[in-house]
This record gives sequence, structure tokens and C-alpha cells, in this order.
Amino acid sequence: MPGIYLDHNATTPVRPEVLETMLPYLTERIGNPSSLHRWGREAREGIEGARASVARLLGCAPAEIHFTSGGTEADNWAIKGVAAAAGRRGQRLVTTRIEHPAVLGACRYLERRGFEVVYLPVDALGVVDPTEVARAVDERTVLISVMHANNETGVLQPVAEIGALAWERGVPLHVDAVQSLGKVAVEVDRLSADLVAVSAHKIGGPKGVGALYVRSGMELESLAHGGGHEHGRRAGTENVAGIVGMGRAAELLLAELVTTRIALARLRDRLEQGVLATVDGVRVNGHPILRLPNTTNLSFAGVDSQDLVKGFDLLGVAAASGSACASDDPSPSHVLVAMGLGPREAAGAVRFSLGRQNTEAEVDRVLGLLPELVARLRRLPAL
Ligand code: PLP
Repeated sequence: MPGIYLDHNATTPVRPEVLETMLPYLTERIGNPSSLHRWGREAREGIEGARASVARLLGCAPAEIHFTSGGTEADNWAIKGVAAAAGRRGQRLVTTRIEHPAVLGACRYLERRGFEVVYLPVDALGVVDPTEVARAVDERTVLISVMHANNETGVLQPVAEIGALAWERGVPLHVDAVQSLGKVAVEVDRLSADLVAVSAHKIGGPKGVGALYVRSGMELESLAHGGGHEHGRRAGTENVAGIVGMGRAAELLLAELVTTRIALARLRDRLEQGVLATVDGVRVNGHPILRLPNTTNLSFAGVDSQDLVKGFDLLGVAAASGSACASDDPSPSHVLVAMGLGPREAAGAVRFSLGRQNTEAEVDRVLGLLPELVARLRRLPAL
């Protein structure tokens, strides 16, 4: 049986059209984009074409797009870059307890350097309350950072509302849109965001490339100093093939967003309803409506999620416990704990995240395997 990949929030396969677009930049168009000759010009054109495509997808100007090595770098740059640019003007940040480690890690780094960081709670459905954000912001606050969609539960945050209040108070808003891009619309003005982090490998592009949208006029310390790459803000010869691949993935998304969203939601609902109908003791974690169309996070009572994921792996199915970057960490998910789940419910949580190439037959195959696997794991003596 070929494998069934239901872990698209961890990463997605590179789309054939993307690979086809990238290959010439690894074989023939080998120039350094900073060179003046034909080879250099070809590489530069590839990068600038990709920048225009990513900008079109996000609804911004190409000059506001800065390519990075991925979502983690974009998040780190946004947070540390604003903090560094603010200097002594203010040393306070507001974020949430459910952010990705890329944001939480950058915030902890700043805390060690004397910043105060407010980590806002979420409700039982995993949603942050904009009025809490408003309350937490004061005159020393230099940045608000709230993710668009959570990677574990898929829950969408009221980012546009938070953006509006951030705007009123003159505090910039950073949005980690790594998971939402390609699954729901991500437009910088609709989000009222000043900084937006995205990543290619979540949208059918290659790993190791992403982008940070920086609103024109925004004060942000450069990430790496050296040459004038990326508008003089991130020095270093560009990952030309990767960037071109990201641009192609963005172009494809722009044409398909609505149909992809509907198809993903249909498959996800088939899976979720099938599980609830065939296995006892299952709860859905997260908001039933305000969530990504491809994600379901389910707690199986009396089952350890790592055992379930390993059991599925033996059957040729990829699912996830916790987030991909921490799935070998047995401690309960910080996201589910923030939503008020007890340690046992959090320990039994598995994420299924569907992608555009999954089929109904694959979902039905997983539904056929699940009851027996769960029953077997429930018979195991508790450690
Ligand atoms: N932010 C979120 C919400 C993510 O889900 C991820 C990756 O899982 C990242 C940031 C990091 O992106 P990258 O893997 O490109 O570094």
C-alpha cells in the first residue's frame, strides 16, 4: 500500500510545476543575481518575478517582500528587528501563549535581555480575545505578535480586529501566517498587519525559503549586514532556485485558493465525522468553525498520541502529535494546555492535516484502520 500523508501542516510535497520552474536555476541559469552579465541578470529576473508573485498573493508591493530562509527566520527577524529598532523607546511586547516556538523562542530571547513580554491566554476553543490585547498594550509596547492560524489546532485568530486596535494605538502588528497561507486568504491590509511571516514549504514550495512582509516605512533593524541584498536588510547571496520555487507556488495558489479551500474542508470533515462516528471517547480540540479547512486535532481518551502516531506509521499513515518541531517531545502541547486541556487529554491529541493531493479513498482507508488501532492501544497496560 502506498503511504497516506496526512501531515501537511508539518510540510507539503514540492509541486511538480514548482520543481520544473526551479530546475533551470540549478543547472543552466547559474548566475549570481548581483552579477552584471547575462547569467546574473537571468537570476535577478527570477528573483524579482518571484517577489512580484508573493507580493500579489499577499496584496502588497514587491518592495515590501524580503526573502528569508523560512518562517522561523522571518518570525525571529520581525520580533528582534522591531525590538532592536525601538532601542530604549520601549521594551514591552504582547503576544499569545499559543504561538509557534519560532515566536515564543524569539520573545524569550528578548526577555533574557530585559524586555517584558505579555503572553495572553486563549479561551477553551483556542481563540485569543482582542479586548485582552487592547488591555495589555501600553505606551512602552513596541510590538504585538499574534499568529493567523495555529499550527496544531488550525484555529484562526481575530487578527483583523487586533490589527485595527493596534493601528489605533500606533503599535505595529506582526502576524505569523506560515500556516494560513494557501489555506485561507492572507492579505496584509485585511489583516492590518505591519509584518507578516510566510514559508514556502507549507505551500508546495521547497524547504529553506520564506519571506517577511515589511510594511513600507516600518522601522526594522537589518537581519544580516554585508551586501545590499533584500533591499539592504538581509545580506547574503540569495537562494535563487528556492525563491523562484516559492514564487511559482504563490502563483499557483492565487489561481486556486477558493477551490482548494472547499476541497480540503470536505475531506477534513469526512475524516473528522468518520472518526467521531466510529471511535468512542474522541473530542475535537479547537473552534469548530474558525479554523483552517485542512486541520483537525483530536484527543483520543486512554491513548498516548505518540503511540497512535507510531502505530499509524507502521500502517503507512503520517499524522502528528504536537507540532512537527516538537513531536518527539513527550511534554503536553503548550497550545492545548493554554486551551485548558488536562495532561491526559493533551497527551492523547493527534493532528491530521490534509493536503491538495489527498483523496476520499485515502480518508476512508484511514477510517478503516483507526478503530482497531485505537482499541489495541487502549488495551495496552497504562505505564
Ligand atoms: N510558524 C508556524 C505557525 C509554523 O507552523 C512553522 C512551521 O511549522 C513555522 C513558523 C516555522 O516555519 P519554517 O519551518 O519555515 O521555519
